[in-house]
Order: sequence, then structure tokens, then C-alpha cells
Amino acid sequence: MTIQIAGAGPAGLAAAITLARAGREVVVHEARREVGYRFGRDLQGLENWTVGQDVIAELEALGLSTAFAKLACTRGTVYDAQGRARLVESKAPILYLVERGPGPGSLDTALLAQALALGVTVRFGSRLERLEAPAVLAAGPKAADVIAVGYHFDTAMPEGFRVICDDALAPQGYAYLLVMRGKGTVKSCMFSGFKSEQVYVERTVEAFRRLAGLEMRDARPHGGIGNFRVPASAQAGERPVAGEEAGFQDALWGFGMRFAMRSGVLAARALIEGKDYDALWRRELEPWLRTSIVNRALYGVLGNRGYAWFLRRAASADAREFLRRHYRPSWLKRALEPWARRRYRSRRADASCDPVDCSCICRCGGILSAE
Ligand SMILES: Cc1cc2nc3c(=O)[nH]c(=O)nc-3n(C[C@H](O)[C@H](O)[C@H](O)COP(=O)(O)OP(=O)(O)OC[C@H]3O[C@@H](n4cnc5c(N)ncnc54)[C@H](O)[C@@H]3O)c2cc1C
Repeated sequence: MTIQIAGAGPAGLAAAITLARAGREVVVHEARREVGYRFGRDLQGLENWTVGQDVIAELEALGLSTAFAKLACTRGTVYDAQGRARLVESKAPILYLVERGPGPGSLDTALLAQALALGVTVRFGSRLERLEAPAVLAAGPKAADVIAVGYHFDTAMPEGFRVICDDALAPQGYAYLLVMRGKGTVKSCMFSGFKSEQVYVERTVEAFRRLAGLEMRDARPHGGIGNFRVPASAQAGERPVAGEEAGFQDALWGFGMRFAMRSGVLAARALIEGKDYDALWRRELEPWLRTSIVNRALYGVLGNRGYAWFLRRAASADAREFLRRHYRPSWLKRALEPWARRRYRSRRADASCDPVDCSCICRCGGILSAE
């Protein structure tokens, strides 16, 4: 029986690839006319700190293509609100810069090519309203818990990442500048203050001009939303929900690609092996998702002086190891979780809602109704 997938993002394509490798017939429905449409040429960081295994090795072990352009960053520059620069370094990559969207060498293009080579059918321009099992739902975020807004541009600046932690630029978040292969992305990634987004974007651009010599050619505005939560269940009836549609994403800083691909693979395995998807993601993802919620709540109370202290600590240690320690599930993080959950709620209407019987379709988790 053909398995249908809603969404050709990293989660949906990872599920499609895993199913096709197991010999299943798969059709992916993508609402947009091309892969990675909402990101068109965005540069993003594939984080390499939530778990010990290198993320590229992990993707290979999961059977996913890594034939995309990537820049392994073992160092980067971080600035506090006073403009003090610090070098953060690690002996292993802290993150890998990758390009998103339909362009050559992008992560999305590599996953799409792999899926097509395995015989997966991808229907572009196919926006689903409902989807019967057997299926995987992977249609992306459903609410804005975070927004990242700024510009894409061409540049001759040196490659790498720079970050500024300053509430005047990105409330409770961070401003970032990424450069790879002559392309750049500058963004304010904010967790509140969305109504003044343009003010924060312009302050971010000005700060990077002053601190890092930001130089933009052919700048085009770009932005998007992110959604994170630990769902009560990521199973819509018999259909596993993967990636950001389930809310799977790092809540501290909004890194979602790794969780999206891992959950897509788990969703496929659940269908292939007849396993309980909720049990799989609870074992493989939930401890880190929960820790990231606690990290988010803690970061949210730091303020500019706290960020400066945090950056100082990160710069005085191996940065990857430092971050990994903060993601390691521990009794302390578990003890703080009730407090963190009170402080930090997803903007989705009801985090415990089971989308299968839900009438308020798009706010509770599933745009795709079962009836
Ligand atoms: C500006 C920005 C910067 C980011 N930076 C980073 C970063 O640096 N590192 C990182 O790890 N993460 C980052 N993220 C988050 C990351 O992009 C997402 O977590 C990741 O793309 C989620 O993958 P997904 O497959 O779950 O959803 P998506 O990538 O959103 O894919 C879902 C797909 O489903 C399609 N779709 C939607 N509705 C339907 C429908 N009804 N029928 C058919 N198809 C449908 C959409 O068109 C889309 O292609 C960023 C996000 C934003 C917005």
C-alpha cells in the first residue's frame, strides 16, 4: 500500500527516504512548487552539540544523504551587548553551515535527489487538506514561538558564524550573521517583541556593520516562524507526526533540522516495523527536547548581563562540550522542568491536543484532519 507524506521538508523527505529504502512505495505531497520554498537560499546551522555523535556521521548512519555543501565551523565570534567580542572554539565542529531551499548544493536538494533516486514520487503544488493512513504528517510549524527575520545577500566577507546576544537586537534570543560560499544571512532571532520586528532587524544590521564589517550586496528580506513543544502525543490517529508539525525543535535557540530528520526517520521506522512511534521519539528525542525547554526558560531570565556571563563561560571552554553539558538531561534539569513549563508555553492553543479529533484544525497540531 502506498504511503503518503505531507510536506517535503527535512522531516518528510527523511521519512520518505527511509520508507523507500525499506522497499515501500511513497508519494510526498509538497504544497509549494519547489523544495525548501519557505527558506529559498537561507543559510542555517546544523547544530552539533545536543548529542555526542557528530551530526554528519549521524545522518550517514540514518541512511540520509550528506551530499550537500557544508562548512564545518570549529570556531566563531560571539559578542555581548557591550560589543565585546569573544572567540568560541572547539576541537570538533560546533555546527555545520548549510544552505536551504531549491538551489544546487542545498540540504533540501540533496535529500530530494536521494528520495527521487530511490523511486519516491514527489508531487509539487499539492497542498493537502486531509490525508488518510498509512501516512506521515510533516507539514512544518503551526504557530510562531520564535521568529527569525532579516536578509539574504551576496558578500565577499570571510566564511563562518557570528552571534550577538543583546535584548535590544533580539529579545530573549540572539542576532546572527552566517557566511558561506559568497552568500550571507543576517537575522534577528527573537522570542518576544514580534510586533517591532523591523526595529530589531535594522538594529541587528547596524550592529553587525559596526562590529563585524557586515557588507551586503543585493540584499533581500527573508524571515520565518518556528514552533516548539513537547507534545502529549505525536501520533494523529494511525499517522505519525514528524518534525516541526509535531513541535520537535530545540527550544533554546530554534535549531530544528536535526530533530526534523531524526523524527522523520523514526516515523518511517514505526510504520515499517509496526512500532509505537510515541515510544520511539520519547526514547530518542524527548529527554533533549525537555532539557531544551528548561534551557529556554533559564536563558529567558538571563538578560544582557547574564548573556555576557554565559558567553564568557562558553569562550573559556571547549564550546561544543560546554553546550553539550547544558543539553545533557540531568536531575537538576528535570527538577526545574515544572518551573520552565510554567514560564514557557508554546503559542499553540493546546499542547495536549490530539489532532485526530481536533476541530480547531490549524492551531492544535494538525492542518490535516482525519475525517
Ligand atoms: C528563518 C529560519 C531560520 C532557521 N534557522 C535554523 C538553523 O540555523 N538551524 C536549524 O537547525 N534550524 C533552523 N530553523 C528551523 C528549521 O528550518 C526547521 O526546524 C526545519 O526546516 C523543520 O523541518 P520540517 O520538515 O519539520 O518542516 P519544514 O521545513 O517547514 O517543511 C514542511 C513542508 O511542508 C509543506 N507543507 C505545508 N503544508 C502543507 C500541506 N497542507 N500539504 C502539503 N505540504 C505542505 C511546506 O511547504 C514545507 O515545504 C530555522 C527556521 C527559520 C524559519
